[in-house]
Order: sequence, then structure tokens, then C-alpha cells
Amino acid sequence: MHTVHAACPHDCPDTCAIRVTVDDGRVVHLQGDPEHANTRGALCTKVSRYAERTYHPDRVLQPLRRVGPKGSGAFEPVSWEEALDEIAGRLSAIAARDPEAIVPYSYAGTMGLLQGESMAGRFFNRLGASRLDRTICSSAGGEALLATYGAKVGMHVRFFAESRLILIWGSNSITSNLHFWTLAQEAKRAGAKLWCIDPRRTETADKCHRHLAIRPGTDGALALAVMHELLAHGWVDADYVACHVSGFDALRERALQWPPERAADVCGVAADDIRELARDYGTTAPAAIRLNYGMQRVRGGGSAARLIALLPCLTGAWRHRAGGLLLSSSGWFSRVRNDRVLQRPDLLAGRNPRTINMSTIGDALLSPASPAFGPRIEALVVYNSNPVAVAPESPKVVQGFARDDLFTVVLEHFLTDTADHADFVLPATTQLEHLDVHTSYGHTDVLINEPSIAPLGQARPNTRIFRDIAARMGLEDACFRDDDEALLRQALDGVDLGALRERGWVSLPLPDAPFADGGFPTPDGRARADAPGLGVPDFVPNYESAASAPSLAGRYPLAMISPPARHFLNSSFVNVKSLRAIEGEPLVEIHPDDASVRGIRDGDMVRVFNDRGSYRCRAAVSERARPGVVNGLGVWWRKFGVDGSNVNELTHQRLTDIGRAPTFYDCLVDVAA
Ligand code: SF4
Repeated sequence: MHTVHAACPHDCPDTCAIRVTVDDGRVVHLQGDPEHANTRGALCTKVSRYAERTYHPDRVLQPLRRVGPKGSGAFEPVSWEEALDEIAGRLSAIAARDPEAIVPYSYAGTMGLLQGESMAGRFFNRLGASRLDRTICSSAGGEALLATYGAKVGMHVRFFAESRLILIWGSNSITSNLHFWTLAQEAKRAGAKLWCIDPRRTETADKCHRHLAIRPGTDGALALAVMHELLAHGWVDADYVACHVSGFDALRERALQWPPERAADVCGVAADDIRELARDYGTTAPAAIRLNYGMQRVRGGGSAARLIALLPCLTGAWRHRAGGLLLSSSGWFSRVRNDRVLQRPDLLAGRNPRTINMSTIGDALLSPASPAFGPRIEALVVYNSNPVAVAPESPKVVQGFARDDLFTVVLEHFLTDTADHADFVLPATTQLEHLDVHTSYGHTDVLINEPSIAPLGQARPNTRIFRDIAARMGLEDACFRDDDEALLRQALDGVDLGALRERGWVSLPLPDAPFADGGFPTPDGRARADAPGLGVPDFVPNYESAASAPSLAGRYPLAMISPPARHFLNSSFVNVKSLRAIEGEPLVEIHPDDASVRGIRDGDMVRVFNDRGSYRCRAAVSERARPGVVNGLGVWWRKFGVDGSNVNELTHQRLTDIGRAPTFYDCLVDVAA
């Protein structure tokens, strides 16, 4: 029996260090590494069952070729040789006509640098395939941080434990940022006040002192009103602003137009509550904001994130190590990550392929060839993602994936909704079966993931699958012969690999309070209220709201958000029976007032609908939903839904103001019994 250093691969800011116990080649136990400061020995419920996922009887463990209609999930087993030969032949023929007709589709099914975009990046760059704009989760908020701070950086998560005031903004931390929540609880026990700002009364909101249930997409108006109060009451740190913030005068003019009464109207909360929030924020030090990505999934998500990111610049909260804001820490790793060496954009050799936005894959798959669009998409290679379940406006996504003239290859662990539409499904290894290395977007450690066991069945790491396809296609560049150990050596600069493999993680050397004296990673070291090309941020109303689309709101009066169900992580884990059993079945939460006027009782089967589609699920009549807003908990696989659909039947493909991101939470619907 021995233990192995591993890392959680999932799309979660906590990036836990894991100790895997292996007995005679089989994983018998997983636990959080007690010595890793962020993990503290604890994994969430989902990943503590990771072995159940790896040894799941439904694992795809050999290559499969489609024998039924697309979407039917009917496959026959084939050998790796047959699969690779046919895939290489089909892709070579398409590439000979136009490599841009081949599109990669991947996201954060694993966050690993090796099994993510290393060999895959080399492969698609060498082909000259279309590029993928990976926007589906965080790019609006990410670009807001770039515009404001110059990089995706923030305060250290561990110092939230010392904060006196914490605003948990757009995050159900108990579900999606558990280890931060432990720190927030410590702060609370030491006397800190916790505010939760979220349209849904989440499990996290239950445990905060105050909950502000604003309407979806109104966060920017709330931030402006808080600024108004900071200005009106002299709670701005004038010295910090003068030294370390640019564009303040224009921001002040804007914020002064937003008294709490105006924002209260927009946000659907009481003006006095906004005043109380602003007073707490303006008069408590250290004050910290844990912003998360839920709030930026609306038309004005980027502007709202910019406005919130400016709050600690106005109060000078950055002066304290337990003050400031954390949305992402991923930018800190730019000093060690060697993405260009891993992904080799130089293999494009001067070509400049088009870019397909992953958030509009439905439209892209249905687009004919045109001078503006380029060639019709003929081949799709999907890895680390399940777009048929997670991409917005799934009626179009499904129609696109069902095209008979589309050649689709899916690297997967299971027959997901996307794999059901594949021509070939290739069995990929899970995190316990391959080597990888991880950075984080919630803390500042690099983690190793050693393979704990040999690959099950005929599963292969993504790196090897792309290496094998490249070899079959005659791509002879030396970089395609790099094995995973070689990729690991290339992945990072300035990280002691010996120490990393010995201990399991290495911490980046960073100051405790990175912006106490300014020094933001912008050209002049100042945070920017007035960013080049963007101006000063303002409140941007939703595409679909009573104010901006009154006739649509007349027909569909309920706003819908679709946050993850507690025991799922995006669409991962939906097929793990023990977790699905806890969730029960797809639910929409609806406020008792909205339910009663529609004759809906708790537990009724309901239809949630708009012009784009209709989705059947069970109603949970609950004050977790605020009046006028329903919460369609996701992201269920369509095939586990009541009528083979999920909540994305209703969402649309319009994009955020900055970052080209999807607007999942900017969606009007109605509900009927
Ligand atoms: S999903 Fe998040 S909390 Fe759960 S084990 Fe992974 S990193 Fe940790």
C-alpha cells in the first residue's frame, strides 16, 4: 500500500491537493492533503467520490464507432488502430481542403496543463485548424480584471480569515468554493460580518449575517450606489486614490448619479439595505470581497465586474493583506507558466486561422460557408467538455451536433450527451491514471498530479491520443514525440520540479498585501477606472429584462438563473449515481407568490418555457427564489432530464459587453403547471 500526490482536476478555485492511497494497483482511498494550507485535509463531497467515478461501470474503456443515428448513443467497439486510422484519414482529407474546417472544442473538464492544451494545442496549431475562443465561463470577469488591475490577480485567499467584513458576491461558496468558505467561517467566528449578494437565497446566504437578493444582472447598479455612498460620506481613501488609481474623476461623476434610491429601483431591494451595505464597506477595515463568476453571466457582466473591482481601490482596502478582492488568482502564474512552449503557437508558421467562439457553437455549427464566416465546420474534436449539455441555446447546439455531414471525435470518460453525437468516442484516462500539473485560480500554489494507477481498460491520456493521431497523420515534428515527462519539464519556468514532486505542491513567492502600495500590473502601476478602449464602466441592463425588453417581459415575466446544483460541478458528476441520488431530479425553484398565481404546488411537474424552447422539471416552491426570479438548477445531462432536455433549452447565445462570454443568467421565461 502506498500514497500518491494528486491534484483535483476540476473547474473549481480551490484546486485541492489530494493524497491517494493505492493497494495492489487499485485506488482504495482519497483524502485532501492535510499539509496543504488551502486543502487542509478536506475534499468536497463530489471529489471525495472520485474513485467511484474512475471505477464507474459505465466508463468508456475502449474506442467506439457510431452505428446508429447521431444522438442515439449506439456504438460498436473498435480497436485503437482502426479508430486512429479512420480519424486520421478523415481529418487529413478535410485539412487538405481547408484546415479551418476542423474545430477543437475543449474547456475545463480537466484544468491540468498537460491533459488540457499541451499536445492538443500543438496538434491544432500544426494543422492550422480554427482556433477556439474559450469564453464559456469566466472571460467577462477575466477581461474586467485585466482592464482594472492589468492582470487576473487579487488578494490571497488565506487572509480572508483575518477580514473584519466579507462581501460574498455572486458566489454560493459552500457549493463552489468550499475552502474559502471555511476561512470565511473563521473570520465570522472572530467577529467579522458577512454579506451575501446573490439573487438566490443560497446555502451560503443562509449562513451570512445579511443577504441582498438583487435582481439578476443588476450588480453594476449596486456597485455604483455603494460608490455613491462612499463619496457622499467621505469614506474614500483620497490618498490611495490619488497615488494608485487613474480615471477617478470620471468615475466619481458617474457614481454621483447613482443614489441608493435609483439603484434600489433597478436592483429590487430597499435603499436602506444598500446604505447599510455601503456603510459597512466604507467604515470597516480590513474589508474583503470574494467575487465569483456567477454575476458576470449577463449582458453587462464585464462592466459590473469592473465596477466591483474598483471598490477596494476607492476605500484603499488593498492596504491590508486581509482587504481587497479576489475573483481570480490565475494571473499570478504567468510568471511560471510556459504555455507557448507547451502549445507551440509558432507551429502556425504565419497562418492566422479564424476563431470560433465556444459560447456560440450552436450558431457556428449551423453556419454555411461564407466570406465572413469562412468554411462550414466539417470536423469537431471535443475533449474536456460536454457542449451538448453546457453550451447555451441547446436546441441549436443539438441540431448542429446532429448534422450528418459533421465528423465528430470525442475524448471522454463516459457517454455524455456530447459523446452520444460522436462518430468516434475515444476512452480518456481520469486524473488517477495520468500525469499532470496544475495551477489555480483561487490560490497561488502549483500542484503535481502523479498517476496513481495504470490506465483502466484501453484508456489513454489526452496527450497520447493527440500524439497518436498526429503520428497517423504524418506530422513528424519532434515536439510530437515529447512524452508526458518531457511535457512536465517544459510546462513551468522557475519551479523546482524535485520539490514539487516530493511535497505535492510549491507556493509562488508573493507579497502578503500585493497592492498595499499600488504596483498593479498595468503600464503605470495604477488601477484603472478609465480603461483604454472601454472608458468608465456603467450599469448595463440585461438583454432580457422588464426595463430593456418590456414586450418580451410581458410574455415571459420571470427572470431565470441557472446556478449549479450543489452536488454537480457544471455537468461533471451528473452520472455518479450516489450524487445524482442526492440531487434527486431536475428542479426549478420558484417563490411561493409566483407559484400561487400560477396554481403551482411544491413538487408539481412544471414546464419552463420561452420562445427558444420548453423544459420540464419538478417545481420546488421555496423562498430560495426571490419574487420574479426562478432558479433552474443545473447542469443536468439532457439524457437524465425528464424529457431529454436541460435548462440550456431556454438560454440564448448573445454575449457579454466585454469578454465575448455567454449570458446564461440573462434569460426571461414563464412557468406553467
Ligand atoms: S471540486 Fe473544488 S473543493 Fe472539490 S476537491 Fe476539487 S478543488 Fe477541492
